[in-house]
Amino acid sequence: MSAEPSSPTRKKAPLSTQLLVAAGVFVPFAGLIAAVISVWGWGFTWLDFWLLVGFYLATALGITVGFHRLFTHRSFETYRPLKALLAVLGSMAVQGPLLTWVAVHRRHHRYSDQPEDPHTPHHSGRGFWGRIRGFIHAHFGWLFHPSEADTLVYAKDIYANRMLRWISYLFPLWVALGLVVPGAIGGLVAGTWVGFWRAFLWGGLVRVFLVHHVTWSVNSVCHLWGSQPHTWSDQSRNNLLFGFLALGEGWHNTHHAFPTSARHGLRWWEVDLSYYFIRTLSWLGLAWDIKLPSQRTLEKVAAKRREIKAQRKEARRRARAQRRQKDKSNQEVLH
Ligand SMILES: [Zn+2]
Ligand SMILES: [Zn+2]
Repeated sequence: MSAEPSSPTRKKAPLSTQLLVAAGVFVPFAGLIAAVISVWGWGFTWLDFWLLVGFYLATALGITVGFHRLFTHRSFETYRPLKALLAVLGSMAVQGPLLTWVAVHRRHHRYSDQPEDPHTPHHSGRGFWGRIRGFIHAHFGWLFHPSEADTLVYAKDIYANRMLRWISYLFPLWVALGLVVPGAIGGLVAGTWVGFWRAFLWGGLVRVFLVHHVTWSVNSVCHLWGSQPHTWSDQSRNNLLFGFLALGEGWHNTHHAFPTSARHGLRWWEVDLSYYFIRTLSWLGLAWDIKLPSQRTLEKVAAKRREIKAQRKEARRRARAQRRQKDKSNQEVLH
């Protein structure tokens, strides 16, 4: 593990922004508590369950396939209506407007785990509490600080696209629809207001809560715990649990090694639902230009890893030799 520099001073965002972010982070949590309590009076139906699962998958794929692999990394190409749909579904995950999301994530890759990284867990001080502070910062604490990811610098291409720019500006509308639509489906099927509120809680707020924490875990957990099979240039990790839960995004070390690859789980057992979704789109003729790492790129990354491994081994050997030399001279002084 590399040495962690002491905590930099982090500015706070203006109070109005902080209040909005606090609402975005804590209202879904309050919704989760309300939903659990409501089971005693209102029950929990199969419809609520399927609305939760359906909206989880749709909005999480909006983030992983849309915001992340399509818009941020341009790892495949598709038709305009599908782009619009993915941008709207991703916005319904309540993780900020498309322009901001793309800009922040591109900055994350540019400065991965350096102090300029918007959400690294590695620059919040040393020791146990430094680690806890780092985890909270990477998970959602960073949202309370002003974003230094200038959209005109980092997301120029998204800004230049009129349709995507407007979808990004209309973010509050998509958030509202993402909560009201499951509620409306529940209300219409049940034919009652209780049906509306139950579906609003499970398909709306609880679903936002789950997508939030799973996505944020890619920034926090997947830069702390897991394996590094491809690159040591930052602290990104492949984490089995979030490989599954985050629909393939938890193969994060692989992603940092091959950022433009549409496929994050490169080995057969690394389940990557987002990639299977992109593949299905291509079979249907709805996706093309799907980027995957070439054999040459794979070999280059493997060679770099071997080189670093050899350097580390040599450094350890030298340190051991130095220690032995020191012990020897100490003993000579004693004799
Ligand atoms: Zn990362
Ligand atoms: Zn990425």
